[in-house]
Amino acid sequence: MSDRPILILGGTAEASRLASQLIARNYRVISSLAGRTRNPAKLEGEVRIGGFGGARGLIAYIASQDVSLLIDATHPFAMQISDNAILAAASTGILFVRLDRPAWHPKPGDKWSIVSSLEEAVSAIPPRARVLLALGRQHIAPFSRRGDVHFVVRMIDPPEVPLDLVDFELELSRPGKTEDEVAFLTGKRITHIICRNSGGSASYTKIKAARDLGVPIIMIDRPARREAHVLPDVESVLAFVDEAISLP
Ligand code: NAP
Repeated sequence: MSDRPILILGGTAEASRLASQLIARNYRVISSLAGRTRNPAKLEGEVRIGGFGGARGLIAYIASQDVSLLIDATHPFAMQISDNAILAAASTGILFVRLDRPAWHPKPGDKWSIVSSLEEAVSAIPPRARVLLALGRQHIAPFSRRGDVHFVVRMIDPPEVPLDLVDFELELSRPGKTEDEVAFLTGKRITHIICRNSGGSASYTKIKAARDLGVPIIMIDRPARREAHVLPDVESVLAFVDEAISLP
C-alpha cells in the first residue's frame, strides 16, 4: 500500500463506494465530509470531518497529508467545494478528477417543468398546490412567500431552526422504493414535486413514482460548472486511478 493518501471529497453514495473499492485495491484513502449529516453512513478508510477553511485550507491540508491524488466526488449541486478543489489541484499540481454522476433526462410519461433556480421553482408552483419539497434544509426559505401552497417537506435530519413556511408538514425519512414513493405521494395527495436534478439512483424512485401517477415535477437544473476532468461513475474513476498511480 502506498503511504501517500488519495483524498476523496465526499458526502455522496458514489464517494462512499469509491472509498471502499479503492481500499479493496490497497490504496490509502482519506474521505472528507462537510459534517452536515448527523449520523453519516459508516465509511471505510480514514475519515476527516468539517470544512478546510476555503481553497487555501484545502491546499494546506493536501500539503500536510502529502496527498497523491484528489477526487471531487461531492454532490452535483455542491458548487463551492468543487471550485475550491479545482483551485487547490491547480495550485498544488496534484492529479485531480471529478466524479459527476450524469443528470436525469425526462422519459416518456414524465411531466417536467425545468427551471434554473430555486426562485424560478417558487414562481412555477400553481396556486393551492400540495407540493413535496425534496430539498435540503438550506434551500427551503425562498418558498416562504407561497402562503397559498401546502408543502410536505422531506428531510433526513430534523431542521435545527424552525422552517420558515406558512403551511407545511415535516416528513423525516429517506426516499424509499418506487412502490413506497407511490404510496407516499398518494397518501399525502401530492400534486407537484420540487427537486433538483441530482442524478443517481437513490432518489430516482420519486421520479419513477411521479411518472406512474402522472404527478408533475418542477425540476431545478444543474448549475454551470468550471472546466475540469470529469468522469461519470465509480468504475471509470477506479480505472483512472489505477492508470495514474503505479502501485509498487
Ligand atoms: P458547498 O456549498 O459546495 O460547500 C460549502 C462549504 O462546505 C465548502 O466551502 C467547504 O468548507 C465545506 N465542504 C463541502 N463539502 C465538503 C467536504 N466533502 N469536505 C469538507 N468540507 C466540505 O457544499 P454543500 O452544498 O453545502 O454540500 C456539503 C456536503 O454535502 C458536500 O460534501 C456534498 O457532497 C454533500 N451533499 C450535498 C448535497 C447538496 O444538495 N448540495 C446533497 C447531498 C450531499 P470550507 O470552504 O471551509 O472548506
